[in-house]
Amino acid sequence: DQDALLATVTGPGATADGHAVPLLANVGGPADIAPALAAGAEGVGLFRTEFLFLDREDPPTWEEQQDAYRAVFEAFSGSRVVVRVLDAGADKPLDFLPPPAPEPNPALGERGVRMFRHYPDVLAAQLDALARAAEGTSARVQVMAPMVATVEEAAWFADACRTAGLPSSGVMIEIPAAALRAADIAAVTGFFSIGTNDLTQYALAADREAGALAGLQDPWHPAVLDLVALAASAAAAAGRECGLCGEAAADPALACVFAGLGVTSLSMAALALPRVRAALARHTLDACRRAAAAARAANSAAAARAAARAKLPALA
Ligand code: PEP
Ligand code: MG
Repeated sequence: DQDALLATVTGPGATADGHAVPLLANVGGPADIAPALAAGAEGVGLFRTEFLFLDREDPPTWEEQQDAYRAVFEAFSGSRVVVRVLDAGADKPLDFLPPPAPEPNPALGERGVRMFRHYPDVLAAQLDALARAAEGTSARVQVMAPMVATVEEAAWFADACRTAGLPSSGVMIEIPAAALRAADIAAVTGFFSIGTNDLTQYALAADREAGALAGLQDPWHPAVLDLVALAASAAAAAGRECGLCGEAAADPALACVFAGLGVTSLSMAALALPRVRAALARHTLDACRRAAAAARAANSAAAARAAARAKLPALA
């Protein structure tokens, strides 16, 4: 059956011709470690730290944070663990990091890295807890900021990380301005991770919380693929890694397209890893590139999906 077939493809993510595309897991805390390891995740590509503290009224203590971080680092010793600092606001409100004023439109308001301008101590404490938790583990810990729009924000975050003793920091590319000007941002940061959930929301101006707009929230839209291509090319030109950690990475055909666009690793819910691993293993990098080109040449999400799939014959 399908599950048995998928289980035959194991090992690190790679295309049929051996181009490595590390396959990482999205986790929200220690509870997600076991499924990620069982699915053969090569590390963690997105540790959503805000999930640890969603129903808290007070900021988590330094010790609480350390315990949670250390558990994940130890489980992935020897591997990459990309930790995202608290992404508060809009669809992920945190009681202890409220926006400083009422917002008519939270998705366009204070969220992600913007929030830390109002709570610099919370960022400093989190970075310190991360740096201390990283000590004494062999996980390759990388820290990244969500919702970066400008070079100034990216540089400010890199600086905060260096001050905390975390030299390896990066930014999420999930705002169209950041993708369009990715070359500028690459000059001041260590790596990119593309967040297609928000990138799609902002590219199509369709609130990700609005179910009635689900038809517009399609990461296959060529506008989204163009933004991913821009970010991946700018990263490559600057010698930076460009991962991708939105839910779109879990779509096997889209995962092949992203590899074809130059995305260097894919992070997703653990359950999705076997299918994506199998899809990559059945197509050469060249086939992925042809699928990506065909998708970008299409004029709609539906046409892009159909065009890419026609170039990816081994997809079930
Ligand atoms: C994204 O926006 O694609 C992403 C990975 O972050 P989140 O879904 O947590 O906003
Ligand atoms: Mg996001």
